[in-house]
Amino acid sequence: MHDFAAKLQQPALWPAVRDYVAWQRRARAATAAGQPLPDLPDRAPLSINLDLTTACNYACDHCIDWDILNQKQKHDDELLRAALERMVPRGLRSVILIGGGEPTLYPGFVPFVQFLKQLGLQVAVVSNGSRNDRILQAAQYLGAGDWVRLSLDAASNDLWRRMHKPQKATLTLDEICSFVPAIKAAQPALQMGFSFVITWRGGSRGAVEVHENLHEMAAAATRAAQSGFDYISFKPFLERQDDGAEVLDPAKVRGELAAVLARIEQGLRASREATAGFPGFRVVVSTNLRVLLAGTWRDYTQQPRTCHMQMLRQVLTPLGTFNCPAHRGVAKAQLGKAELWAVPAAGQAATAGILGRFDAGVECQQVTCLYHGANWWLEGLIEAGADLPVELPVEERRDWFL
Ligand code: SF4
Repeated sequence: MHDFAAKLQQPALWPAVRDYVAWQRRARAATAAGQPLPDLPDRAPLSINLDLTTACNYACDHCIDWDILNQKQKHDDELLRAALERMVPRGLRSVILIGGGEPTLYPGFVPFVQFLKQLGLQVAVVSNGSRNDRILQAAQYLGAGDWVRLSLDAASNDLWRRMHKPQKATLTLDEICSFVPAIKAAQPALQMGFSFVITWRGGSRGAVEVHENLHEMAAAATRAAQSGFDYISFKPFLERQDDGAEVLDPAKVRGELAAVLARIEQGLRASREATAGFPGFRVVVSTNLRVLLAGTWRDYTQQPRTCHMQMLRQVLTPLGTFNCPAHRGVAKAQLGKAELWAVPAAGQAATAGILGRFDAGVECQQVTCLYHGANWWLEGLIEAGADLPVELPVEERRDWFL
């Protein structure tokens, strides 16, 4: 899921990588010679996170995007569609509808999904589950390769309510999960995930202490399998530090870190055991949880100076266009306004600008970066200087989400 270097070698994505590497080499040579930078190739990012809205109908203690929720800024729907239409012929392949905000609250969410699919894009939706009727309506337009992931984080109705504080007083986790069979029946090829951010005592959002949920891991896996989800995905709780970056902060685990990690390991084991009888159901461990458990998470905070993923994957929000999900809404990570890519040359100029000025070695030194391996792989290709082949002997898996 998170082997981005492998994904980038697929035939559908490789030409963009090749063009980018060639441009970086020319740009570095021009800088060394004191000459102006060459123009970026006439390309757009391969994949975007698209926050359709900052509105949210929950008030989760553990929300990483708390500071950017429920803002006045909105997308200009027509301009947003124009931007996407211009990005597709320039290489855009996939869109993850996510937030900072609950995507299904966007007026016209269902027709927007239809529009994305008509453009031939792979589409994913990350939702809080509160408006699964909209997901059900949109399912007819989705298909193989697309996915929907619901951020649920609990097994019991009680803990789920305390963690998420939904505006609708009667909404329950039971009701949310009851939609899954209907969504799967409407679109069997669609992958549906139950997302579980693991929280522990000591974690906080500012002064707000989060509810611990790691004791409900196995019960949540059982609920996910019984409800008809295809997988449950476990990931660790992230916090936003003062400069806006999303970071993993194991130092804030109250009590013995080793004891908490042992409980998480036990939760994963119990989750696998509890769901062993459900054929095809998967227990997925996120990259940052894997490196936290392995004790190697600090390795993932060492980034090259240039984050190459800024060219290949960007974040479009009503607040502006940003270089990375880990810096969503942060001024120094902003490329431009929301619909920057409505003028592709402007998007390319802004991308070249941030590639030059954003020092990931400094700005991301606390971030356990999921793109760490892909960034160093790209840095190696650029520095190697050898011609890159036009094609690689890599199978096309049609997994274009970055
Ligand atoms: S180095 Fe990683 S965290 Fe930093 S901007 Fe790039 S992808 Fe994001």
